[in-house]
Amino acid sequence: MLSRMLAALMLVLISLPAYVSAAGNEIIVYSARNEHLIKPLFEMYTKKTGVQVKYITGKAGALLERLKAEGANTPADVFITVDAGNLWQAAEAGVLQPLTSEILEANVPANLQDPNNTWFGLSVRARTIVYNTTSGADKKLSTYEDLAADNWKGRLALRTSKKVYNQSLVASLIAEHGAEKAEQIVKGWVNNLAADPFSNDTKALEAVAAGIADATVVNTYYFGRLMKKQPDLPLAIFWPNQETNGVHMNVSGAGVTTHAKNKDAAVKLIEWLSGEEAQAQFAGLNMEYPVNTNVDVDPIVEKWGTFTGNPMNVAKYGELQGEAIKLMDRASYK
Ligand code: FE
Repeated sequence: MLSRMLAALMLVLISLPAYVSAAGNEIIVYSARNEHLIKPLFEMYTKKTGVQVKYITGKAGALLERLKAEGANTPADVFITVDAGNLWQAAEAGVLQPLTSEILEANVPANLQDPNNTWFGLSVRARTIVYNTTSGADKKLSTYEDLAADNWKGRLALRTSKKVYNQSLVASLIAEHGAEKAEQIVKGWVNNLAADPFSNDTKALEAVAAGIADATVVNTYYFGRLMKKQPDLPLAIFWPNQETNGVHMNVSGAGVTTHAKNKDAAVKLIEWLSGEEAQAQFAGLNMEYPVNTNVDVDPIVEKWGTFTGNPMNVAKYGELQGEAIKLMDRASYK
């Protein structure tokens, strides 16, 4: 009996070191951020640390459903997704665990991380106004709220309310003004539409460039991508709400899964992604802004000028997402 227990113990002792090193040397990431935005960074990380980073990419919603379905059997250690609304949903579904990390606390501003520390922003996107430079719209632009005014009748383009980016924008209006006023604003937008809501930011931008509408609300990197391909389009960025609460900010971010097999290694990867070495690329590859304020913005992005961002905690977008969806429905925002 004793010898059998000893033999079992020996087996554990022999196999343990191999298990630990294999586990610590490979991390599995589920990412809603596109492959070309993460692959170069993971390769850099492997070169530096010897840790292999395997990943699958997919749509934010599908990856979350997969994490939920896999439960304790998930191979994923890290979940990367876009929009605080989606990060909040993941935390709410219980697939992320709280982290204690001085490095993440130092690198990620408090308003760009979960107050419960289950997720941390890794890049910042500004959802701002883009207008047609030949339309004279710049003379009447001021705030998101003002796009609901009568003088915008038939001149506004918007992306669909089904997209989480707009749900987060409307959630921020609810947080700022209360549901009643937020609904008036959204109804005003809908009244001012030049065309049915577009399926993506790029189509909304193209409509503005074509003169179908004078202005739209988009994430700046879509403007960057389109202008890179067609630099002569009559489009420019306007930074709204500079006299009030600032430009609407959102994040892409990451968390460690509840059932991560390699928690310590997973935390280290996210910490590294928030650090100075990785941040310029993590943000720059997508023409976003670094979360780490010690890191310079990409030169193309810098040309769009400086602005004040809304300091609201982005977790609010998740908390108010359900209310925002219902409000947009009441306002007939398709
Ligand atoms: Fe996007």
